[in-house]
Amino acid sequence: MALVIDPLLCPQNHRCPMIPICPAGAISQKGNALPEIDPEKCIECGKCVRHCGRQAVHKAERHG
Ligand code: SF4
Repeated sequence: MALVIDPLLCPQNHRCPMIPICPAGAISQKGNALPEIDPEKCIECGKCVRHCGRQAVHKAERHG
């Protein structure tokens, strides 16, 4: 199950504070753009979900 960052909730105007707390180094960000979570690296520990002040991290919806 992948985690995604909701572009409607993330203001995309600051360095993502989740990057240094991710134990897997799975979160990357170009400048202040929307951060990305690499599903290959993410161990789904849930730390970023709790850490994001905007509650912008969600489990990806499965379609079909
Ligand atoms: S769930 Fe854990 S491993 Fe996955 S991106 Fe968030 S902090 Fe990193």
